[in-house]
Amino acid sequence: MNNKMRETTNTNTNNLYQLSGVNFQYHLGTLLVQALRNIDLKIDAGDFVCFRGPSGSGKTTLLNLLGLIEPPQEGTTLFEGEDLSKLSETQKNHIRRFRIGFVFQNFHLIPVLRADENVEYFLARQGLPKKERQERVETALKAVGLWEHRNKKPLEMSGGQRQRVAIARALAKHPHVIVADEPTASLDSSTGKEIMTLLGDLNRKQGVTILVSSHDPMVIQFARRVVELHDGVVTSNGLAN
Ligand code: ADP
Ligand code: MG
Repeated sequence: MNNKMRETTNTNTNNLYQLSGVNFQYHLGTLLVQALRNIDLKIDAGDFVCFRGPSGSGKTTLLNLLGLIEPPQEGTTLFEGEDLSKLSETQKNHIRRFRIGFVFQNFHLIPVLRADENVEYFLARQGLPKKERQERVETALKAVGLWEHRNKKPLEMSGGQRQRVAIARALAKHPHVIVADEPTASLDSSTGKEIMTLLGDLNRKQGVTILVSSHDPMVIQFARRVVELHDGVVTSNGLAN
């Protein structure tokens, strides 16, 4: 960490997320599943955090909360200083549209659209003019090394290429944070490594905050910080203190 980053971290102007006392339950009929238990967590802008834990430990639930896919239930969740439980649906949609990019394990691309159209599709929802959209699509597809394949549809691409399109789609929004739930779990290990290298480059060179979940040791090597989850509890927050 360079001095400038250390400075901003210490003054806390850099806080992207701040969670305190966060609980999350699923209702399965009459059964309650406690997926997150009393989570306190701070995440700085510019960080690259890997959430690690066995299956069922709450990684997806936590990332869905941080990505505004699931609404908060109990405790406080601040995103860029705003309390998510106090925002309207319209305000939350705005955050999802402009500040958060998602990458999923199974890519979630639209099969009938070409790579460039998949990237552009979300930008149209941002209301950007056509020319700006085209520039962003080109920049994002070049950043993931897929500009030459822009005319291909998902089924004409390998898994690694599809995940690159999904990353380009997230990146083109110019998000403050990219949330990637097990982004390498559907890929072979060398392709997974390429994807993690790409996310690492985006974090270092463009300063995009990256949050990933995985239990793969390979993925963990790329993170600046590893947060451990066990039965919905944060057992290590990856900080020295
Ligand atoms: P992970 O991503 O680490 O595998 P999850 O966040 O998916 O963990 O799950 C945490 C806990 O919540 C698990 O006990 C899981 O069975 C439960 N859970 C997850 N999603 C649901 C759901 N939609 N309905 C009920 N229980 C769920
Ligand atoms: Mg999961």
